[in-house]
Amino acid sequence: MKKIVILGAGESGAGAAVLAHKKGFDTFVSDMSAIQDRYKNQLDEYNIRWEEGKHTEDLIMDADEVIKSPGIPNEAPLIQKLIAKGTPIISEIEFAGRYTDAKMICITGSNGKTTTTSLIYHIFKSAALNVGLAGNIGKSLALQVALEDHDYYIIELSSFQLDNMYDFRANIAILMNITPDHLDRYDHCMQNYIDSKFRITQNQTQEDAFIFWNDDPIIKKELEKYGLKAHLYPFSAIKEKNSIAYVEDKEVKITEPIAFNMEQEKLALTGQHNLYNSLAAGISANVAGITKENIRQALSDFKGVEHRLEKVARIRGIDFINDSKATNVNSCWYALQSMTTKTVLIIGGKDKGNDYTEIEELVKEKCSALVFLGLHNEKLHAFFDKMNLPTADIQTGMRDAVEAAYKLAKKGETVLLSPCCASFDLFKSYEDRGEQFKKYVREL
Ligand code: ADP
Repeated sequence: MKKIVILGAGESGAGAAVLAHKKGFDTFVSDMSAIQDRYKNQLDEYNIRWEEGKHTEDLIMDADEVIKSPGIPNEAPLIQKLIAKGTPIISEIEFAGRYTDAKMICITGSNGKTTTTSLIYHIFKSAALNVGLAGNIGKSLALQVALEDHDYYIIELSSFQLDNMYDFRANIAILMNITPDHLDRYDHCMQNYIDSKFRITQNQTQEDAFIFWNDDPIIKKELEKYGLKAHLYPFSAIKEKNSIAYVEDKEVKITEPIAFNMEQEKLALTGQHNLYNSLAAGISANVAGITKENIRQALSDFKGVEHRLEKVARIRGIDFINDSKATNVNSCWYALQSMTTKTVLIIGGKDKGNDYTEIEELVKEKCSALVFLGLHNEKLHAFFDKMNLPTADIQTGMRDAVEAAYKLAKKGETVLLSPCCASFDLFKSYEDRGEQFKKYVREL
C-alpha cells in the first residue's frame, strides 16, 4: 500500500489526511508543534495515525509521497533530507486536485487574494451554484473533496502552496499583482518569488482563462517570457490597450466574453485596490457564465472581509480602521491611499525585509503622527524619524498602542492599523492583532 506522510496538521494537513485515508493510502501525520484538538479529533475519527511535538524520521523517510504544509520552509533539515532522497513533496491542493473534476478558480498575488477570493465565492454562491471556498480560507480543499462534492472551487493560493504544485490545473487563474513579499523564503531573490506566483498558470490550456492586472510592470514583463496558452483577460483602472475590463464614464465595463456594465458607485467595496478586486471577480464570474444581473447584485451587496480596511468605531470624532492584514508595505500603500482624512498610522511588527520608500510620500502627505508597534522598532526609527512627525514607540502591546494613537489623533482624523509587517513578534497572528485592536478601541 502506498505510504503517504503529511507534515503539519493544520487545516490543510488534517484535511489531506482524511482524503488520503479515504483513498486507501497508508497515512501518517507528523507535526513538530502541538496539534489543535479539533484536528486531533478529526484524525482519530478516521483512525489516522499521528504524532505531535516531534518528527519520527524513520517513519517519514519511509514515505512514498509527502504532503507538506505550506508553513514549513524547504530549508528545514527534514525537507532537505526528503529532497535528497528524491521523495516527491506536494501541497495539499495538488493532492486534492487529483480527486475532483470540479472547475477550479484560483487566485494569487501579493495583495488582494482573500478579498477577491471571498468576493468571487459570494458571487457564485449568490448565483446558487454548488461552490466551495478553499485554500488559505475556509475548509481545506482536500476535506471538501473527501466529504462534499462541489462543481466549483474558489481557491486562494499563496506562493508557498504554489511551490509544491506540479500537475494541478486552474480553469480560471487570477494573478492580482506581484510586489516584494516573503523574500526571506525565496533566498531574497525577487525572480524566485515571481516564478512561484506564475506557477498558477502552469498546465493551463486554450480552454482556460488567465485574468491579471494589466498595469503591473512585473506581470507585463513576465507574460512575454511565459508564452501562455490560456485566453488572457487583462484588466486596468482605466481603458487602455489590451484591457478587457476597466472603468469608463463612471461605469465598470467588462467587454469579454459577454459585455457587462454597472455603475462604479454601486460597487460594495471602495478604494482603488478594491476596484481591481471587483474587476477580477466580475471577469471570473462572467467567464463562468453567471448572468449579468447576478454579478451586478453580488458586487453591490458584498459585506467585505474582516481585518481588511475594516471600520471599527468612531470615538469622539476619531475613526478607527483595522487593516491588520496589511502585512507588507504595498498593502499599507493602498490603505493610506484610500484615507480621506489625516491619519495616525500604527505600523510595525516582524519585518520581512521591508523597504519603506514605497510609502514615504504617502506618509508625508497623509500622516499626522506615527505609532511604532513592535519588539524591534529600530528600522522604523531609522527610516521615519527624519520626517519629524510626532511618534510613539510601543513595545508592550496593543492596549498601549491604541491609547498612544488616541492621544496623538485630533478630532476629524483617522487611526489606521496597517502595520506593513507580520504580527508574530507580539501577537499570535494578524487576526489576533486585529481582534486586540478592536477590543482596545471599543474600551476607549
Ligand atoms: P491577501 O489575502 O493577498 O493578503 P487581502 O485581500 O487579505 O489580501 O488584503 C490585504 C490588504 O492588502 C488589505 O487590507 C488592503 O490594504 C490591501 N489590498 C487588498 N487588495 C489589494 C490589491 N488589489 N492591491 C493592493 N493591495 C490590496
